[in-house]
Amino acid sequence: MSDIKIRIVLKSGKDQSVRRFHPWIFSGAIKKIYGNPVNGDLVEVYDNKDEFLALGHYQSGSIAVRILSFEKTEPGRNFFFSKILSAVDYRKKLGFFSEPGTNVFRLVHAEGDNLPGLIADYYNRLVVFQMHSAGMYRLRKEIAGIIMEILGDKVAAVYDRSEATLPEWLEIKGGDGFLAGEAGEIIVQENGYRFIVDWKSGQKTGFFIDQRENRSLVQKYSEGRQVLNLFGYTGGFSVYAMKNATLVHTVDSSAPALKLADENIRMNYGDKARHESYQADAFEFLRDSTGKYDLIILDPPAFAKHNDALHNALQGYKRLNMRAIEAIRPGGILFTFSCSQVVSRENFRKSVFAAAANTGRKIRILHHLSQPPDHPVNIYHPESEYLKGLVLYVE
Ligand code: SAH
Repeated sequence: MSDIKIRIVLKSGKDQSVRRFHPWIFSGAIKKIYGNPVNGDLVEVYDNKDEFLALGHYQSGSIAVRILSFEKTEPGRNFFFSKILSAVDYRKKLGFFSEPGTNVFRLVHAEGDNLPGLIADYYNRLVVFQMHSAGMYRLRKEIAGIIMEILGDKVAAVYDRSEATLPEWLEIKGGDGFLAGEAGEIIVQENGYRFIVDWKSGQKTGFFIDQRENRSLVQKYSEGRQVLNLFGYTGGFSVYAMKNATLVHTVDSSAPALKLADENIRMNYGDKARHESYQADAFEFLRDSTGKYDLIILDPPAFAKHNDALHNALQGYKRLNMRAIEAIRPGGILFTFSCSQVVSRENFRKSVFAAAANTGRKIRILHHLSQPPDHPVNIYHPESEYLKGLVLYVE
């Protein structure tokens, strides 16, 4: 694996983004490939004057190379060991391993941790992988071994859930499964709240860890309010809101998610007198909710996975936010999010502005929200800032 024979030469001028450390080479930037790389192979990237630029994992999609290093190096076990150690040390320095009320966080955030294609989430001694590239998928066992070695008694098992994230056409799927150790039911703690995590078949790796700080803000603003949590999944926002709200309604189209939401509420509050779950389409639910709530959380799934779906996605955000604003009583608050990587902060804001204008309500922006530091943004890769949110005060 250290003997790289395949060379990719870029078209004139297409080296600029690599020199600014952007970690992707798009297929359109390639002038010539020397060799016949298959998905997941290591390749070296050169400019059109034969100067070395980077090395990375090849894949036959629009992102042709995911860059691992901008220096000529041996990407063997030591290379990956030191990168993962750096991701772990970063989180240790930020206190993630010693926070008494929290044992759930992202351990490796792909490009944000200079490891494109690798997502690893930490759930109370269980690490769950979602690989986004063939190259990282090939290395999954080796990376699991490295994580077991680095974390020692802080980890009991590593489970791979890449089936859902690798593109169909890669045809390299071996199915999900344990790469080290074993685990049963996992209950995590986040800011002192307890959650059951469906790490085997839930959304993403089982839990939306990226909303941790935004959930605390929801708790703060829920005091004395009637709260609607749309796209509520397993009730992350609902559990926080319940602390001080007068009632909380959780809406999701998935019955298994709502079952866990109810269990999570019960685990933290005993009874669910002030909480109801509704299995419904969020758009439909809003239709019958005009003027009913004091605080609404809108955290839909990514409306656009690719640029060609951008226009429809922005229309979708506009319609949804319009209906949500209409459902808010005067003096109420809207938490609205987009987790689509292709929707920029500016575009999202424009959609929400358009929605607001259509309702004619007076609206102030209270907060601009993003993702927490265990989901770091690589400054050279603006795409790693995928989570965008606004908190609005609606008169
Ligand atoms: N806010 C959640 C994560 C939301 S994920 C948290 O913090 O944990 C998006 C959720 O939207 C999923 O649970 C999915 O089942 C649900 N969903 C997708 N389309 C929907 C629709 N049209 N109506 C209601 N829920 C929907």
